[in-house]
Amino acid sequence: MKKGCPYGTHRVISPKGVLPQPADVIDNTMEIYDNEVLIDVKTLNVDSASFTEIVRRSCNGKKPTDDLTAEDIQAIKDTMLGIVAKAGKHKNPWTGSGGMLIGTVKEIGPAYVGDLKVGDKIATLVSLSLTPLVIEEILEMRPAIDQVDIKGQAILFQSGIYAVLPEDMEEGLALSALDVAGAPAQAAKLVQSGQKVLVIGGGGKSGLLCLYEAKKRAGVTGLVVCAAGSQKSEDRARSLDLADAYFHLDATDAVSMYNKAMELTDGELFDVVINCVNIENTEMASILATKDEGTVYFFSMATSFTKAALGAEGVGKDVNMIVGNGYTKGHAAITLQCLREHEGLRNLFKEMYA
Ligand code: NAP
Repeated sequence: MKKGCPYGTHRVISPKGVLPQPADVIDNTMEIYDNEVLIDVKTLNVDSASFTEIVRRSCNGKKPTDDLTAEDIQAIKDTMLGIVAKAGKHKNPWTGSGGMLIGTVKEIGPAYVGDLKVGDKIATLVSLSLTPLVIEEILEMRPAIDQVDIKGQAILFQSGIYAVLPEDMEEGLALSALDVAGAPAQAAKLVQSGQKVLVIGGGGKSGLLCLYEAKKRAGVTGLVVCAAGSQKSEDRARSLDLADAYFHLDATDAVSMYNKAMELTDGELFDVVINCVNIENTEMASILATKDEGTVYFFSMATSFTKAALGAEGVGKDVNMIVGNGYTKGHAAITLQCLREHEGLRNLFKEMYA
């Protein structure tokens, strides 16, 4: 059996010398190296930005939530199969992003170090944009929630993180929450008792989990506020009683966000601001709502490093800005625990995403 590199560089075909994620083409032969894990894949949870772009390009501008015809579904399948045939992985050529998968461990290399056993049901928590993948057949698609059931196999490298799927919740439910696991886990780390916290995009999937975790950590002496994108998602968060205050505002309007933050905190601004939106140009609303020496956590993938850095400097704000690394220690356990602890949140996730 051939020896593998922990990061999977042995699978890179082109360009040579890069890691599997930035590579254009990787080797997706399903014969494992000595430190790899072979997975029988059940479902792909394609990254939201990636799936939206695939649908748009395959179906004449349609969205995943539109009524899709049989021809549309076939066109999406063809695009997905084409991506994997070309790259050996499901890395969207237009957005560069991947997603994650769930499946069952089929084989483990003798040099692999870890607790996995053959037969374990797992969710990989590393991106599909670096995961060697073979799709034999696309069986079913749930476009509105970016999930695609397939017959196929994938490889997990030694360095690849994963979560064993819990037995006390449906796979689809766990998968949808684990997709954004970094956000509530970072909230758990960042928020201290008594702090004032603002979650922008608080009515969305990662936002709701962050509100729950922030409220738990800030406690009764803290203040947790949900800044939603619309009345609908504001009502969604309010119905679950996840925050101390709620409003909705266009987060690209930085000055209005600042005024609202001043009003809600008696001019103090927030200790921690968590950005969970899925659109561009919300960096300044997050920065202006944060007090000096406070912290902004940019979970949103639409965040621009340049806009955040130059924007903060431009308004003379000394704030800590954290890049939304999707991984932090214990992220899967913290996220699944949110769903176990809050029945309303769990039911909403079941209804909306599972
Ligand atoms: P989501 O459920 O779609 O939530 C996004 C929220 O943004 C929605 O609730 C939406 O509000 C709100 N929003 C949209 N436009 C807005 C505006 N102009 N002003 C204020 N709010 C606005 O998405 P998600 O799954 O939580 O993901 C959120 C972000 O995290 C995405 O950018 C995603 O790419 C990123 N992400 C990052 C990682 C990572 O590792 N860092 C991993 C997964 C996902 P309405 O519902 O009211 O429209």
